[in-house]
Amino acid sequence: MKILVTGGAGFIGSHIVEAYLVAGHDVAVIDNLATGRRANCPEGARLHEVDIHARETERIFADFRPDIVNHLAAQASVKVSTGDIVFDLEVNGGGTARIADLCVKNGVKKLIYASSGGTVYGNPDSLPVREDHPLRPVSPYGMSKLVGEQYIGLMHRLHGLQYTVLRYSNAFGPRQDPNGEAGVVAIFTGKMLAGEQCTIDGDGDQRKDYIYVGDIARANVIALEAGANGTYNIGTGEGTSVNTIFKALQAETGDATPAHHGPPRIGDVRDFWLETSHAAAELNWRPEVPFEEGIRLTVASFRP
Ligand code: NAD
Repeated sequence: MKILVTGGAGFIGSHIVEAYLVAGHDVAVIDNLATGRRANCPEGARLHEVDIHARETERIFADFRPDIVNHLAAQASVKVSTGDIVFDLEVNGGGTARIADLCVKNGVKKLIYASSGGTVYGNPDSLPVREDHPLRPVSPYGMSKLVGEQYIGLMHRLHGLQYTVLRYSNAFGPRQDPNGEAGVVAIFTGKMLAGEQCTIDGDGDQRKDYIYVGDIARANVIALEAGANGTYNIGTGEGTSVNTIFKALQAETGDATPAHHGPPRIGDVRDFWLETSHAAAELNWRPEVPFEEGIRLTVASFRP
């Protein structure tokens, strides 16, 4: 199949591109390298260094004629979204509307969309969080990712666009940016390998759903054929505390520097994990990489 991946030079996108290439597909990438890196984009995929809003994107659709589009290009930082809600909406909401429109105009068979299970629901009424939980984002980022979902649903109703929405929990793994404001596994790994002290927000007992990026990539391979017009949580279904992550990374890196405890993050949801039985039942997808194995693979990839 011919697959166009937007954001394919980013952290998660690059793993999806790799999985598609391994499965024998013809892959093109659109990425403006805002946070992505040319070196992330696997060899074998054609990288177009283009903004999804640029005219050039229309030409790429027309020339490549993709069967499938996997849309990951996004402003992926909650902090940036809070600082500039209009920019965030333009990239994530407007950008997704544009990609969905181009899919319709170019007869794309399916649009796969990377949504955010950690932010579209907002504060959970109960755990684990199912797909039918109310959608009440508490950040501009969560809102703009939801706007993207809603535009895809609209294009389905108006024009019959076929889609699969995958709502990922917190991803970790190789190529995650250790200098970002999110991604505690990457940040701690980077610091430990550099001999620097890690800061744990609050008491560190807050638990989130951390999923290894390879499991996300596999869900995106399955979504090429399955999950028509469905929305699926993609997570582990379990909460792992920041303290557990810290200890696992210390054991793996050999670092022994005690952590510094900073103030808790204002507005952060304390405990959050996703219910994933819908993906198990309809996509036959389950997470396969145990947490410790994911940590081992991540640390190995971060070593100089
Ligand atoms: P990332 O920043 O590494 O990837 C985003 C990519 O999009 C980057 O390569 C960036 O250069 C590119 N991009 C940004 N704006 C663009 C534009 N206007 N035109 C073209 N390319 C553009 O982030 P990531 O963590 O790999 O996230 C990938 C996707 O997954 C995003 O859609 C994000 O919202 C979603 N997501 C991520 C997580 C997570 O835990 N990292 C969880 C849920 C959902």
